[in-house]
Amino acid sequence: MKGYKFYEQVNAAFDEAAQYTTYDKGLLSQMKICNDVLHITFPVELDNGKIEVIEAWRVEHSHHKMPTKGGIRYSMTVNEDETMALSALMTYKCAVVDVPFGGAKGGIKIDKSKYSQRELEHITRRYAFELIKKNFIGPGTDVPAPDYGTGAQEMGWILDTFRQMSTDLNADGCVTGKPVEMGGIRGRTEATGRGVYFGIKEACDNKEDMKELGLTPGIEGKTFVIQGLGNVGYHAALYMIEAGAKLVGVAEIDGSIYSEAGIDLEKLMEYKAETGGVTGFEGTETLEKSNSVLESDCDILIPAALENQINEENAGKIKAKIIGEAANGPTTARGHEIIKKRGALIIPDNYLNAGGVTVSYFEWLKNIQHVRFGRMGKRFEENSYKKILSVIETISDRKFTEKELSFLAKGGGEAELVDSGLEETMINAYNEMNELRKKHDVDLRTAAFISAINKVGTIYERMGIFP
Ligand code: GLU
Repeated sequence: MKGYKFYEQVNAAFDEAAQYTTYDKGLLSQMKICNDVLHITFPVELDNGKIEVIEAWRVEHSHHKMPTKGGIRYSMTVNEDETMALSALMTYKCAVVDVPFGGAKGGIKIDKSKYSQRELEHITRRYAFELIKKNFIGPGTDVPAPDYGTGAQEMGWILDTFRQMSTDLNADGCVTGKPVEMGGIRGRTEATGRGVYFGIKEACDNKEDMKELGLTPGIEGKTFVIQGLGNVGYHAALYMIEAGAKLVGVAEIDGSIYSEAGIDLEKLMEYKAETGGVTGFEGTETLEKSNSVLESDCDILIPAALENQINEENAGKIKAKIIGEAANGPTTARGHEIIKKRGALIIPDNYLNAGGVTVSYFEWLKNIQHVRFGRMGKRFEENSYKKILSVIETISDRKFTEKELSFLAKGGGEAELVDSGLEETMINAYNEMNELRKKHDVDLRTAAFISAINKVGTIYERMGIFP
């Protein structure tokens, strides 16, 4: 039953946490189950005129809040179990960071590299058409977003397909992570990686917790290894480095590299674009097994690729004191137990990678409000600051330079407001979760699940059951 393990693992983590809550058993079962599972197959015509049958899914896990929300993944690993597990994780993730959506997830089982742009567009549009036909997409029903193997381009195609078939005033809100020109929001591309950074920073800034781990507080000076330099991994690494951490190891599909002296991220990205991989990058040692860098010396390990990467085979050899789960489900239940016994801190996926859906929420709000954040208030704020500064100038005899003025009297535009909303969200959720961890003497993953179960459970209790 290997194929059904991921969903089982998510439910095992749920059950572990449910012991610390007082909800009725039936209600807990309702919270765990996937409400709607859509499995579709459709034909596409390839560039060479041949027809291929494509398999895809969309799962809506929980309707306790509407719309449901979650990414669409393009990968050969996509199957029903994976999509169900990921949709459940979306419900819990949204609850942990107080994003008012139910969880969903979709996926198309394809190897993206095997198709032309035209073929990918056809596959995406046909998938969107199937979702529309079956009422599995819409600004008030179910709102997809990018995930592994998809980005703004695919979301743009989905929105355009939706628009062809709908006159809904809020149509732009049927999908998030779209190009800014089509109603997307500034900061969405960086959001998941940025959230990973905010979450790890918050953990590292906690003096008491760092002391328990035998680490000094703060992100500065800490070494880290990252698995996967896709959109999430790259941005997480970028912000970690900006804050003074040192990237010492990278694992990618072609293998892994290590350098105690540190790795230049931008140069590595250029090298990866040229060669298609990371091995052989100058100044680094290439390790034999593609994942062996996960076991090398570092303070923080960030798995930012796919699920089940830290498991019973390698968990015992991992030396990092902090595991920041940027990917969804990167640690198996056994892997988690082994790491926990060693006393390391696991910052769980259903909190740490919630930056993406948080900024998706801001994008959806922008779409249904039909106004860009900052449009009404930015100038007003700037003028108010300028007035205060001019009073300071008159009473202090100090003239501000143009440069000082533009720095001190800056109002919040869309990018700044999104970033501030994301930081606020990640900090609040971390501390809420950490308090539950201490209160119940559990790990952070269980604490995140307790937080999610309580938030979803209260809604179910208040809502009652429809006859
Ligand atoms: N795919 C991302 C995730 O797993 C984002 C989902 C969204 O923005 O709806 O959280």
